[in-house]
Amino acid sequence: MSQKFDAAAATATYLAQLSPAVHAKAQAYTQGGHWLLLWGFLISLLSAFLILRSGVLVRTRLRLEGHRRRPLLASFGVGVVFLLMDWLLNLPWSAYSNWWREKQYGMTSQAFVAWLGEGALSFLISAVFTGLFLVALYGLIRKARRLWWLWAGGLSAGFMVLGMLVAPIYIEPLFNTYTPAPNGEVRNAVVEMAKANGIPSDKIFIYDGSRQSNAYTANVSGLFGSARIAMSDTMFRKGADLAEVRGVVGHEMGHYARGHSLWITGIFSLLAILAFFLVDRFFAPMQRLLSADGVTGIADPAGLPVLAVILAVLGLLGTPILNTVIREIETDADRYSLEHVGEPDGLAKALVKTIEYRAATPGKIEEALFYDHPAVGVRIRRAMDWKAAHPKPQ
Ligand SMILES: [Zn+2]
Repeated sequence: MSQKFDAAAATATYLAQLSPAVHAKAQAYTQGGHWLLLWGFLISLLSAFLILRSGVLVRTRLRLEGHRRRPLLASFGVGVVFLLMDWLLNLPWSAYSNWWREKQYGMTSQAFVAWLGEGALSFLISAVFTGLFLVALYGLIRKARRLWWLWAGGLSAGFMVLGMLVAPIYIEPLFNTYTPAPNGEVRNAVVEMAKANGIPSDKIFIYDGSRQSNAYTANVSGLFGSARIAMSDTMFRKGADLAEVRGVVGHEMGHYARGHSLWITGIFSLLAILAFFLVDRFFAPMQRLLSADGVTGIADPAGLPVLAVILAVLGLLGTPILNTVIREIETDADRYSLEHVGEPDGLAKALVKTIEYRAATPGKIEEALFYDHPAVGVRIRRAMDWKAAHPKPQ
């Protein structure tokens, strides 16, 4: 192996591990997913329009306010009613796109009832969180009429940090069971890698991700003391060997070690400030456009559907920006894995198994707009380039 290692050929060999039929199916799944963004956007517009026209939010606000002005109760109550109606109106679409379609592609083995139960539970959790967020948001709009959008960016950052802190402790255990890797070579490898990179080794778990999805995946969640790395049991069902585990955990350790969640929080908060600024500017014209009768203005929580329409438009337009930010972060995590663990082939083998839900070789524009991870073809090529530049001493 002292001859020159051909990174391009090695990449092609990895991609050829899957048959053309498997690649074609992955492409259909991935590109169909891009269209889901557009349909989901249109359905959320329709939902907001229907809620507005029903007049339910204005009536709820009047009832909750009563004779005495009770703005906190009104914004929480109206917020929760809006979220519930929006969730119910979107339910058929989510059932199609997040369950039925996944089932058709063999991406989930979950029964519909279980899917629905978990959906209802996450709705309840997010309704409480979002309800509290809306109380604070409308408080800001009332108290700081001119610069509320600036404060709202800080508020979003605060809620994101809070959510990340509590998720691994209070929320994720409601959906999955997290256990330390069982004694054996996987555990030994993981503990050794964690030690070598200054990460507490009791923060690496395996969870029963196969309950919800057959995707080969791992993730980092939490923040500061609550941060942890978790590998889905699907990795082992799909035969992950030690080199793969090391490559994948190296990638997740990269997210952890380089503080990616804080970067995402910071960038997301700046985008939130921009979004709320635009909400401030576009609320009145959008209210007229939707003829939102009975809504007294931007400070009225009954105008939530108007706000939701503006945010849906901005969300769709902002998707490529967020995707690009996250893609850079994912590239950085791959680099960390290669530099600190040095398993280019382990990483490549693992990446091949993610192709089924993220087609390997999209066009450049498709990747820029829709991919929140770099294309697998690109990632494997980078791993192989790294391998070529770092020949193992024989
Ligand atoms: Zn990642």
